[in-house]
Amino acid sequence: MDNCLFCKIIKKEIPANVIFENDQILIFEDINPQAKKHLLAIPKKHYKDYLDFSRADEFEGFFSEVADFAKELGDFRLVSNCGERSGQTVFHVHFHLLSDEKLGSFGR
Ligand code: AMP
Repeated sequence: MDNCLFCKIIKKEIPANVIFENDQILIFEDINPQAKKHLLAIPKKHYKDYLDFSRADEFEGFFSEVADFAKELGDFRLVSNCGERSGQTVFHVHFHLLSDEKLGSFGR
């Protein structure tokens, strides 16, 4: 999608530290890490948020792949902000994967 930051990362128009990639999925480092390891897992096809993505055929397959990847991380947190009031700033669905340290609670 034109003007989508994460679509530009997928197309390699903007650099990112890619950790895993296949035909459907990209996993890369968050530019502003909130944990020792902070990755973003995204489908390559553009969906604006979790609810939009939840209707996609690839929804279940995506989470199987993310789980296969995440189980190598040790304990982790998987978070998706959905909508502006939740803190979503990039409107290409993404799942934050936070790991490699003891995490505190979160909220406001
Ligand atoms: P959210 O606020 O849930 O929409 O998350 C968007 C995330 O994208 C934030 O954690 C940002 O730090 C991250 N981000 C923004 N721009 C980039 C970029 N160019 N490369 C990697 N991560 C980015």
